[in-house]
Amino acid sequence: MTSKHLETALIGVGRSKRYTQGAVNPVTQRASSLVFDSVAAKRQATAQRAHGELFYGRRGTLTHFALQDAMTELEGGAGCVLYPCGAAAVSNAILSFVSAGDHVLVTGSVYEPTQDFCTHILGRMNVATGYFDPLIGAGIAELIQPNTKVVFLESPGSITMEVQDIPAMVKAIRAVNPEIVIMIDNTWAAGVLFKALEFDIDISIQAGTKYIIGHSDYMLGTAVANARCWDQLREYSYLMGQMVDADTAYMASRGLRTLAVRLKQHEQNSIAVAQWLAERPEVARVNHPALPSCKGHAFYQRDFNGCNGLFSFVLTQRLSEQQLTDYLDNFRHFTMAYSWGGFESLILANQPEELDAIRPAGGVDFVGTLVRVHIGLENVQDLIDDLAAGFARIAS
Ligand SMILES: *Cc1c(COP(=O)(O)O)cnc(C)c1O
Repeated sequence: MTSKHLETALIGVGRSKRYTQGAVNPVTQRASSLVFDSVAAKRQATAQRAHGELFYGRRGTLTHFALQDAMTELEGGAGCVLYPCGAAAVSNAILSFVSAGDHVLVTGSVYEPTQDFCTHILGRMNVATGYFDPLIGAGIAELIQPNTKVVFLESPGSITMEVQDIPAMVKAIRAVNPEIVIMIDNTWAAGVLFKALEFDIDISIQAGTKYIIGHSDYMLGTAVANARCWDQLREYSYLMGQMVDADTAYMASRGLRTLAVRLKQHEQNSIAVAQWLAERPEVARVNHPALPSCKGHAFYQRDFNGCNGLFSFVLTQRLSEQQLTDYLDNFRHFTMAYSWGGFESLILANQPEELDAIRPAGGVDFVGTLVRVHIGLENVQDLIDDLAAGFARIAS
């Protein structure tokens, strides 16, 4: 049984003797073909191919089973599907549950590629997408249509970090139609800081690319489903050819062992930086879920077990192109990149109108430039000094 303490659970999950074969870590079993010793063995493997028997590479090897068992146990589901990246997990999870003529409801602060998937792929299949204000709470009930099949949450929201009142939303959705499949992009929580399935969400999706892999190298998506959705998610994703190579699965299992200690350091560093930013005259607002200035902070405090290194802040001024270049091009420790969740600190900026354009449920309420940071594992004073030098470069 999994320990109720995350640190201990992360050490043990997915390390049964069948997977480790006498080593500490699961074996890396690379295979397309898996060999049957007899007709009877082939028959048994075929019957049990979706239930942990070695059958064919696309159904997974011991290395994949180890990671799937680990994720299933950590997130408290019936099973876990692996995908080549987070975007594949999002699109395949949605595709597994919609048909032409259906309607999906998606949070207005959703990750931009998820929005683009709904527009370009679902739209072409005659599946309509409606967007809701991430702070809508129980009011989501009024947006549900008779053909609504999926509600897609993401909390905190991408870039602007709104934390949703998930218990109120789930309760309201279930009251209107208990059949609706509720999914969450749970990447920010790494699947462990917010236990989605304990909140009666059906499918918890994450870009394992971020904190599980944790080193900015491999890409992975995971989706853990409850018993109600597991068979359909697994079989439909399988039909759409979703699989990941054994080496990536191995690296993800390895990443899990240090996840708790990394997250704790990201949390400590990011709160220290966020608190420093909150005192700065250049900063209008800090969107860090652990700070009261973040929208939905009370829901974060109630529902999450901790935070990580990713947050954003809004400047009092809208930077000119020249200021933006001077600011972003000259950091010592912060580099510019889209992904996050690795050991290193990152920085990117958005102008308010750029964010306004990807907020279909209502625009932004600020006029300054927004800066998104990922606070890594460096010494926190070095990071603060770097950010202070950045402010000096944009002083007008
Ligand atoms: C990065 C990310 C994804 C996509 O993950 P990839 O592995 O890059 O495809 C999806 N959702 C969120 C919230 C992300 O941050």
